[in-house]
Amino acid sequence: MKAKHVAIIGGGVAGLAAGIRLASQGVRIRLFDARDALGGCCSTTLLNGYRFNNGALFVAVPRLLDHAFARLGIDRASALPMHRISTPQASVLPDGTLIILGDRDRVRIEGAQGDARTATLLGEIERSIEKWNPVLQIFTDDLLTRPLSLPHVLARTWRHLAKLRGTLADELLRSFSDPQARAALAAVTLYTGLPAERTPVFQIVGLISMLQDGLHLPIHGMGAITDVLEATLRRLGGEIRTDAPVARIRVDGGRVSGLALASGEIVVADAVVSTATGMATFTQLIDPAVVPSVMRRKTQRAPLSQRTLGIQLGLRNRLQPPAHSVNHIPPWGEQKKFLSPQPGGVRWFNYTVPTQSLPELAPQGGSVVEMFAAVDESLPLDAWTDAFKADVADASIAALGRHEPLDIATTRLISPRDYAERWHLYQGAIYGLSPAARPDQQFPHKTPIDGLYLAGQATYPGFGVATSMFSGIFAADAVLAR
Ligand SMILES: Cc1cc2nc3c(=O)[nH]c(=O)nc-3n(C[C@H](O)[C@H](O)[C@H](O)COP(=O)(O)OP(=O)(O)OC[C@H]3O[C@@H](n4cnc5c(N)ncnc54)[C@H](O)[C@@H]3O)c2cc1C
Repeated sequence: MKAKHVAIIGGGVAGLAAGIRLASQGVRIRLFDARDALGGCCSTTLLNGYRFNNGALFVAVPRLLDHAFARLGIDRASALPMHRISTPQASVLPDGTLIILGDRDRVRIEGAQGDARTATLLGEIERSIEKWNPVLQIFTDDLLTRPLSLPHVLARTWRHLAKLRGTLADELLRSFSDPQARAALAAVTLYTGLPAERTPVFQIVGLISMLQDGLHLPIHGMGAITDVLEATLRRLGGEIRTDAPVARIRVDGGRVSGLALASGEIVVADAVVSTATGMATFTQLIDPAVVPSVMRRKTQRAPLSQRTLGIQLGLRNRLQPPAHSVNHIPPWGEQKKFLSPQPGGVRWFNYTVPTQSLPELAPQGGSVVEMFAAVDESLPLDAWTDAFKADVADASIAALGRHEPLDIATTRLISPRDYAERWHLYQGAIYGLSPAARPDQQFPHKTPIDGLYLAGQATYPGFGVATSMFSGIFAADAVLAR
């Protein structure tokens, strides 16, 4: 049966992309988000004049975002102008050595024999780009722009299969001779919550993309992505409701019949696209009696991503760090320390200063700083009281204050409990599934329940702004193919 009325749960980039694709094909769309604004983890909040991210900090692979917009019929370059960050990362090693990564003319090692080591690093980066660029292109121009098909993946990657075995640490050891440079390169992917020894080697394509194309920030910040998608969906006639949490997906006789909102309102629909993650959809939104056993097992075995404490500072003073994002990192081989709580005092940390690229995100002369503190994953969510999160944050802020002058005007803290209760992220896991999850651990776009479709960061191609948009497009295509 062709779906005429589709209800979408979630107004993040996945739900908006799904809505646009469906509405452009004449399907009536009603989209519901529990929060008071759209965009989920790709949005911003203005607090006391400082614009803070609600998740994503930058666009990592701009070409993929261009493809996603093109698929939705939007010309990204004119609808969403972006600022290119040419010095995205700096790492400070324990002996004070500073390593800058970015465009070729920005790469620099400041420390013992800095000039000679910089020349070696540049040569090694060049060879690594040469080696991995074909794989990056296959991923960004092909594999991530279509639903997962193992035969297709094999057909496109068989020439590179030998390269794709092993971990990021193996590859960095093979390709980079300087242990401190290796540590700095590995630090680029620490946002996954995994040390290089546990990061699948294909994640190197993100690093190669950064070295080759830089990182990008939409002018006016990450929320501009959501603004463009929202405007497009409204123009196509999509109905959007915020402050509208969905309590239940209604299933009658094995088939979806609509939604029940937390307010008690019933919404009739012949298909539902849920972007609330497969885990939340099958444990919280569907009557357990009708959850297919294959989905129950998938949910129980889902490897979740890390939790974190988001620390955001609005400063009255202007910071001038050596790069958009700065890491204070342990030596090569010890990066687990960066990813674990540091009870005796924080030494290893990362901070990002978006006002370095877009000063207008803060009042004149001020700065926005964002940090993510490693947390004890075994703590129950309700341990995150206001007093506890302030204590954990203070240790990271003190560590930053030893390196940068901080005249703090505003502090915003987002604990794992906040991510769970206010961001609606399953169990507070920031990317839903772990970035190391295998494709078969991701959730399908078309579920065994007739009329129920899934999109968002726990479905292929997984977490990330552009990839989540693609997942919404794939779920919409599955609805249209019904
Ligand atoms: C801290 C953090 C940093 C990140 N950094 C980056 C980065 O730098 N670059 C990058 O590309 N990606 C980054 N990501 C990942 C990226 O932001 C996400 O993968 C992407 O935004 C997810 O989009 P989504 O639509 O799948 O989910 P979400 O953005 O989570 O949207 C889902 C929406 O569904 C709503 N919802 C959930 N349950 C219900 C319900 N029952 N009823 C109604 N509404 C509901 C939620 O309120 C939410 O708005 C980051 C994520 C986080 C959390």
